[in-house]
Amino acid sequence: MPTVSIGPKVSGENAAGVDPVRIRFWGVRGSIPTPGPQTVRFGGNTSCVEVRADGQIIILDAGSGLRPLGTALSEEFRGRPLELSILITHTHWDHIQGFPFFAPAYQTQNRIRVLGFEEARRGLQDALAGQMEAPYFPVALAEMPGSITFEELHGDSAAIGSVRLSACRSNHPGNCHGYRLDTSAGSICYIPDHEASGDDTGLKTADAARLMKNADVVILDAQYTAEEYCGHAGWGHSSIDDAIHVARNARAKRLYMFHHDPAHDDAFLDRMLQRARQIAMGSGMTVESAREGESVTLAAKA
Ligand SMILES: [Zn+2]
Ligand SMILES: [Zn+2]
Repeated sequence: MPTVSIGPKVSGENAAGVDPVRIRFWGVRGSIPTPGPQTVRFGGNTSCVEVRADGQIIILDAGSGLRPLGTALSEEFRGRPLELSILITHTHWDHIQGFPFFAPAYQTQNRIRVLGFEEARRGLQDALAGQMEAPYFPVALAEMPGSITFEELHGDSAAIGSVRLSACRSNHPGNCHGYRLDTSAGSICYIPDHEASGDDTGLKTADAARLMKNADVVILDAQYTAEEYCGHAGWGHSSIDDAIHVARNARAKRLYMFHHDPAHDDAFLDRMLQRARQIAMGSGMTVESAREGESVTLAAKA
C-alpha cells in the first residue's frame, strides 16, 4: 500500500530520537461497509484512522476498519501489554461498529481508553454497550477481558500523553465532534462527519474552521459532489466544493477527502478527486482522497 511522506525525508528517527508521526487509514467509508470488487482501491471499511505520535497509539473512530487494525496490533505486540486511546466522534453505527470485533479488547493485558462526548440521551459508555446487548451481539461490553475505561470529554481540550487534543462540535445530526491532534511533528485534524454549509447559526462551521487552522493534515467529510449535495442538504455531510473551501480558507496544508459515500465506486471516487484538484488549483493545498491501507508520515521536527 502507498506511503506518503510529508516534510524532509525521514529515516525512522531524528537526531533527538523522536519518531516521526504516522497516520494510517483503516476505514474511509461513511454510513455502511461496502466490500466488493467496485471498492477495492479506496476500500469499503467504515471510519477508522490510526495515529502513532509521541509514544501514543491514538485511534480515531471505531468503524469496521477497527477490526483489521486490531488484528494488526495483536500481531505486532504478540502478548506484550498494549495501551491505546480510541477517540469517538459520535456513536452513529459507522463510527462504532468495529468495537465488538477489536481483538485487543479480548486480551487481559491490554488497556484501552475510550474518549468522546456524551450522546444526546445516553452516555458514551452506554451507547457503545448498547450495540453489544442481546439480541444484537453475544458478548456484552462488560464481559470483554481487556481493561477498558471510558472518559467523557467536557471541555474543548485535553491531553493524550504529550499530544494536545482539541475538539469542536461539527454540523451533523446528534452530538458529533471533530478532533485535532497537535503532535511534535505537526497537526492532524479529523472531522469525518460535517456539513460545511447549511449551518443556520454558523457557529459550528466557524468552530470547525478554527480547528483546522494551519493544520498539516486535515481529514474531512467530502461525501458528495456539488450536484448530489443539492438533494442531501441537511443530512450532515459536505460536498467536495464546500470541504475544499473551508480547508483552503483555514490554510490547511494537505486535505484528505473522507467518509466516502457507499454508492461511490472506485471509478467515481477517481473522478471526484480529479474534480477536487481542479477546484483547489492554485491554493497551494494538496488534495487527496483517503484510501484504506494508505499511510502518511509527518517528518519529525528537528
Ligand atoms: Zn459517519
Ligand atoms: Zn454520523
